[in-house]
Amino acid sequence: MESLTIVIKLGTSSLVDEVTLEPRIANMSHIVETVVKLRRQGHKIIIVSSGAIAFGMKVVGLNSKPKELTKIQALASIGQSRLVGLLDNLFRQMNQLIAQILITRNDIMDFTQYKNAKNTINELLQMGVIPIVNENDTLSVSEIKFGDNDTLSAITSGMIYADYLFLMTDVECLYDDNPRTNPDAKPIIIVDKIDELQVKTDDIGAGTKVGTGGMTTKLIAAELATNVGTTTIITLSSKPQNILNIVNHIQSGDDPIKDVELGKIPLHTRFLSLSSDVKIKSDRRFWLLHGLKTKGKLIIDQGCYKALTRKDRAGLLPAGIIEVVGNFHESECVSVVVKNENELIEVGHCRVNYSSSEINLIKGHKSNEIESILGFADSEYVAHRDNLAFPPNI
Ligand code: GLU
Repeated sequence: MESLTIVIKLGTSSLVDEVTLEPRIANMSHIVETVVKLRRQGHKIIIVSSGAIAFGMKVVGLNSKPKELTKIQALASIGQSRLVGLLDNLFRQMNQLIAQILITRNDIMDFTQYKNAKNTINELLQMGVIPIVNENDTLSVSEIKFGDNDTLSAITSGMIYADYLFLMTDVECLYDDNPRTNPDAKPIIIVDKIDELQVKTDDIGAGTKVGTGGMTTKLIAAELATNVGTTTIITLSSKPQNILNIVNHIQSGDDPIKDVELGKIPLHTRFLSLSSDVKIKSDRRFWLLHGLKTKGKLIIDQGCYKALTRKDRAGLLPAGIIEVVGNFHESECVSVVVKNENELIEVGHCRVNYSSSEINLIKGHKSNEIESILGFADSEYVAHRDNLAFPPNI
C-alpha cells in the first residue's frame, strides 16, 4: 500500500468535555488507536492539536475563558504540558513515539526558518515519530497569530505537501445550510471547486465554549490545503475510527456519494485537491501566499497585472502602481490588488524592495527615475518576480 502523509486536526471539543472541561479520555484513546493503526499501515501522521487553553482552565479551576491575553497565555502554557503529557501517556501504551512542535507565525516569517520547520517535521516522520503541533499561544499575540488551528493545520499540510488533511469537528460533514436550525439542510459529500460553493456556514461548529474555529475557518483551511495538493476531509471528531475507513475508501477510487448512501462509508465531506499541473509545488510560493502575514496593499493597474501574470512573468515595476495602502518596511509582505474599473481584486502577495513611503514617491514613475527621486535605487523592481506569488486560479 502507498505510504501517505496524513495531517489530523483535533479541535478542543474532541479532547475536552465542553461542560466539565475534563479530558475526553475515551475519545483520545480512539484517536490514539486509529493513528497507531494508520502508522502500522505505513502512513506518516501529524497531529495538529488544540486544547492547551481548555486543559489549563481545568487545571486552575476556571470555568470560562478569561479575556486578558496574559491570562490566556499563562493557561496555555499550563495546559499544553498536561495535554501532551496525556497524549504521550496513551501513545506510550502502544510503543509510539511523539514529539511536540509549538509554532507561531513569527517563527516562519523567515524563509530559512520555514524550511527548518519543514525539515524537522519531515525528519520526525522519517524516524516514525508523530509530531504533535499546536500554536505557541504563550508567545502569540494577535498580529502574529495563525488565529485558529484549522489554518495552522492547513499551513502544516502545505509545508510538507501532505496527501490528506482531516479536519475533525462536531458535525459529520459540510451542509448547504446549518443543520441545527434547518432540518432540510443537505449534506455535501464532494467539493470540487470551493470558490463555487453555495453554503451558509455562518456559525456552524463555532458556538462551543471551548472551540475556536467554525465551518468558515474550515473552508478557508480546505482551500489553502487543496491548492497545494492535499485532499481535505471534514468528519466527525467523536468517531476518529472513521478516518481509517475514509482513507481506504479514497484510495480505492470508489464512488463516495453512492457508498455514503449505501452506508458503506461514514458521512463526510471531501474537498478534492487540485491536479498536479495547477497545484502549488514550490515552497517559496506557498510561503509567500500563506506563511507570511501581509502588512499593506499595492494597488496596480490592468497593464501591470497582465505583465505580472503572463507566461514569462515580469517583476513589479513602480510604473504600474496606482496606490499604496498601509505602512510597511522593505522586505515585508503585502497584497497585490488589481484595479478593475471600480472594483479592487486581490490577486496575490509580494515581498517588497522598498518601504511604503518610498513606494509612494516612486509609484507611477519609470525605474530609471528611482535614483533621482529617492537618492538611491536598490532595485529597478518594487518586487522581484521571485518574490511575487499568485494562487493557482490566477
Ligand atoms: N491553540 C489553541 C489551544 O491549544 C486552540 C486554537 C483553536 O482551537 O483553533 O487551546
